[in-house]
Amino acid sequence: MRNLKGIPESKYICATCKQEKDSVEFHWYAQTIDGRGRGGNGIRKRVNGSCKDCRSKLQKQTTELKKKILPDNPRPAYGELCKACKRPVYANQSDIPADVNGTYAWMFDHNHKTIKFRGWICNPCNTGFGLLGDTSDSVNLRLQYLIESEQDE
Ligand SMILES: [Zn+2]
Ligand SMILES: [Zn+2]
Repeated sequence: MRNLKGIPESKYICATCKQEKDSVEFHWYAQTIDGRGRGGNGIRKRVNGSCKDCRSKLQKQTTELKKKILPDNPRPAYGELCKACKRPVYANQSDIPADVNGTYAWMFDHNHKTIKFRGWICNPCNTGFGLLGDTSDSVNLRLQYLIESEQDE
């Protein structure tokens, strides 16, 4: 049975379907964590902003897309360049030599809205795009901020 201990009784808006759902419809860290990220004060942390239904739908879409795309677009070899940051990609962060401006871990990047494959990019780029909103508009907004602040220098 699913352990519901420590999950607050609350409602959240799903980041994907925008519907209000009960807290148990979301994914929570299995372990209770304290302020430093360990231990057990009984509080659990929500893992991501999308509900159970949306997450399983996304997972299915990704699996289907991979089946279609992978035969013609296999994962690049390590040492090849990330399509986004143009740095060589190593398997793990610890594999990057000290004198190389490298990055790590190939990720299958796709547009979650159009369900289209975008390309193979590194893990930091993939995470970064996700945090910045995952569209050219949302990234451009932050880019403008950087450009403006660099003009003051
Ligand atoms: Zn949802
Ligand atoms: Zn990259």
